[in-house]
Amino acid sequence: MSNSRRNFLRDLAGSVRDVTAAAQPTAPRAPEPEPEPLEDTRLERYSRQLVLPEWSEAAQDALARASVLVLGAGALGSPVAMYLAGAGVGRLGIVDDDDVELSNLHRQLLHFTPDLGLPKAHSAAAKLGFLNPEVAVEPYQVRLDAGNAAGLLEGADLVVDCSDSFETRYAVNAACCAARIPLVEAGVLGTSGLVMGIRPGETACYRCAFPAPPPDAPSCATAGVLGPAAGVVGSLQALEALKLLAGLDGALLDAFLQVDLHDHTFLRVTTSRRADCPDCANL
Ligand SMILES: [Zn+2]
Repeated sequence: MSNSRRNFLRDLAGSVRDVTAAAQPTAPRAPEPEPEPLEDTRLERYSRQLVLPEWSEAAQDALARASVLVLGAGALGSPVAMYLAGAGVGRLGIVDDDDVELSNLHRQLLHFTPDLGLPKAHSAAAKLGFLNPEVAVEPYQVRLDAGNAAGLLEGADLVVDCSDSFETRYAVNAACCAARIPLVEAGVLGTSGLVMGIRPGETACYRCAFPAPPPDAPSCATAGVLGPAAGVVGSLQALEALKLLAGLDGALLDAFLQVDLHDHTFLRVTTSRRADCPDCANL
């Protein structure tokens, strides 16, 4: 982005602040302003990321053209979907077959108490529509499995797996490898989590890094999870999704990040493709 463009955006942000400060509660009611042209509105909405040296209008356009499938509208899916909608991803598919339960609300920030009993996919879509009406949000009240994965993934430029079971995780990895769709995997439990970016056929896939699920893996229902820990891991997952969509440097490829928030440890573990990987060896 040129310096003049960056200065324009900064001036724009400053003028909004000045107008807000100058407004008086006793001032005569002003006539309703004319709707701003879409381009100006978009520039203002995304101004704080457009001024970043690593971001650009080309990156913003790439995001607007992108279709992203978010699998799960829970603890990880909430921050992922909110940040991707806020950043301006063009189309967001939200896949979840559960209803909102009271035990979800301490960590699943897209759902509020009045949403109890509603399908999570629809509850999430409603909030995301308020957050950014420019984003086309499509709710899918269904659980992804090996049988329907290919159909759900069709047309997606990126998949973000926010599911909570190893069975789903491996099904998603296999389907993304088969369709060569980039994938961001993650999991969280207690105060620990893991994030991994995958470009099928180019970098290690989830099964390359973890050939088999751990035996007797606990779940959030039995082992518990702290809401902010899920928020941190989901935010990292959203960040990796933005890096892959916009082609930024520093993506977590051929590596995964192990996060332990009990003692604030972040460990980047290098991994590589396996010649015998059943999901990606033949790509
Ligand atoms: Zn693999």
